[in-house]
Amino acid sequence: MTKIFISCALPYANGPCHLGHLRSTYIPADIYARYNRMAGNEVLMVCATDEHGTPIAVKADAEGKEPIEVAKRYHDMIVEDINSCDISFDNFARTTDEIHYQISQNFFKYLYDKGLIYEETIQQLYCENCEKFLPDRYVEGICPVCGAEARGDHCEVCGRALDPIELVEPKCLTCGNTPVIRDSIQYFFKLSHFQKPLEEYISTNPYLPPNVRNYAQNWLKEGLQDWIMTRDMKWGIPVPLEGAEGKVIYVWGEAFIGYMSSAAAWSRRTGIPWEDYWNGHVVHFIGQDIIYHH
Ligand SMILES: [Zn+2]
Ligand SMILES: [Zn+2]
Repeated sequence: MTKIFISCALPYANGPCHLGHLRSTYIPADIYARYNRMAGNEVLMVCATDEHGTPIAVKADAEGKEPIEVAKRYHDMIVEDINSCDISFDNFARTTDEIHYQISQNFFKYLYDKGLIYEETIQQLYCENCEKFLPDRYVEGICPVCGAEARGDHCEVCGRALDPIELVEPKCLTCGNTPVIRDSIQYFFKLSHFQKPLEEYISTNPYLPPNVRNYAQNWLKEGLQDWIMTRDMKWGIPVPLEGAEGKVIYVWGEAFIGYMSSAAAWSRRTGIPWEDYWNGHVVHFIGQDIIYHH
């Protein structure tokens, strides 16, 4: 009898569940979980709604509501859809649960204490009218690559990931003002430190699907860059360090911890340690578009 940990990509709580979520992730994961339970294996299958980040904050601003209200509305809808499709999750949590905050902050602090997260001053867009920094989707402008209208973090037309300060004619999404560039201290994860061990892991892991391996190997060939882990905004998990007031952990720097915090919540409820499953056989079900973040 094997212990199997099954995680499913977290649906983002700014819209209802759609067929793509079910087809790409939840139904295949559910088939796999049910098969393994029938075969006599012990399965722990978890998921959660991903509730931080600028899209939810921007939507809340537009509706004159708090981000947590927007997230709760879509969390409830998503749970209803998942239940009506009888997806057999052992636990379905939220990244706004207290246990998720605790584990994410501990994880961040652990990496910082090990020297794997460091501070650096970078330039960011700041709206003097709204008196706030404009991370990611708080700013819109023109893509410097293809000339199309683009959001601060991404151009839908050419698919390029953008840094907001690269945008031509940037505009504050909230007030339409032209932002200025200001210095801001942010925290970076030393991803470059893991170049060698990741090359080793990715070339020798027999379980990786070929498209995932190719994708990751191409990325490794370009050389891993350190990764910005924080944002200047209110909505999110506060950075657990002195002097970091007003900064939150970037949503992609904590959302994936939702697999573990959802499992930890299950352990609290059942009294069964989730770590035995995590240290057993782990299978992640994700969409192709988020290989990068996993
Ligand atoms: Zn573009
Ligand atoms: Zn503004």
